[in-house]
Amino acid sequence: MPILDFKEIPRANVTNGEQDTFELFARDFLEMLGFEVETGPDRGQDGGRDLIVIEKRTGILATTQVRWLVSCKHKAHSGQSVNDADEADISDRVRAHNANGFLGFYSTIISSPLGRKISALKSNFEIMIFDQERIEAQLLVNNEAADSIARRYFPLSYNSWKLEQNEPSNLFDQYEPLRCERCGKDLLTKEAMQLSLICFVEDVDFAEKHDYEICKYENIYFACKGSCDEILETYYIQKGFITKWEDISDIMIPNHYLYWIMAVMNRIRDGEDIYSDIPYEKLKQFILLVSQFVVKNRTSEQTERLRQLAEIPEYL
Ligand SMILES: [Zn+2]
Repeated sequence: MPILDFKEIPRANVTNGEQDTFELFARDFLEMLGFEVETGPDRGQDGGRDLIVIEKRTGILATTQVRWLVSCKHKAHSGQSVNDADEADISDRVRAHNANGFLGFYSTIISSPLGRKISALKSNFEIMIFDQERIEAQLLVNNEAADSIARRYFPLSYNSWKLEQNEPSNLFDQYEPLRCERCGKDLLTKEAMQLSLICFVEDVDFAEKHDYEICKYENIYFACKGSCDEILETYYIQKGFITKWEDISDIMIPNHYLYWIMAVMNRIRDGEDIYSDIPYEKLKQFILLVSQFVVKNRTSEQTERLRQLAEIPEYL
């Protein structure tokens, strides 16, 4: 199942000022892979544009250059494969551009007849095909350049895929896990979060003395649901406490995260909840660690500004 929706890139055969987007995408993509764009895009015979890119190959004794003729075909909107008729006179075009290779850059797949035709040309010059799947594979690697291109050309499908990945933001210099206090497993991973909980350990005698109008928390723990939680819960119940828990996956929903923090703040301000030092520190730690999945990434300008703010003594 493809992840990136190439239909997000405007059609190449409709003149609306955006018809060259696929070629611009090809240019940015190939530059990301290390090709140098020499010329292009030139309007081709069928409305498709061609680019010339240079690949530098470093050998032991010298660097050689391969000139690639890049043929872009954006057929994602029709969903059809790139066929024989779409790529007429490949050899002539390669020769006319004084190229040593032919690079097909396609937003769909290549048809079998064209595949056979291209294979037959491999003895004459180098051939490389980037079809939908191969382009996608290069863009979904975890690096900043690929991320920036994917975001620009596939804003909808790429962002929804990123959300599904449940990746932490770059809020802290390094990702910090929230560990189960029993087994040490990170409770914030995509797999673990559905079965993770935060548990508030309450002083039941204190509540009784205050007609159950004030809660005093003596501890907070984070645990996997099931045996880890049961062991910790039993430990606190035997000490005369009661426990209340919430699903961590619920608190990781951005709206609920804010709502939940507001509720915690309101209860503290209204005097309904009292925290001892340890649970109060753990509450803050929990809010910080969960925020890695709730807040968006910092931009590079914000990172720089943050560095400046950190130099102001009152800031921390
Ligand atoms: Zn556990």
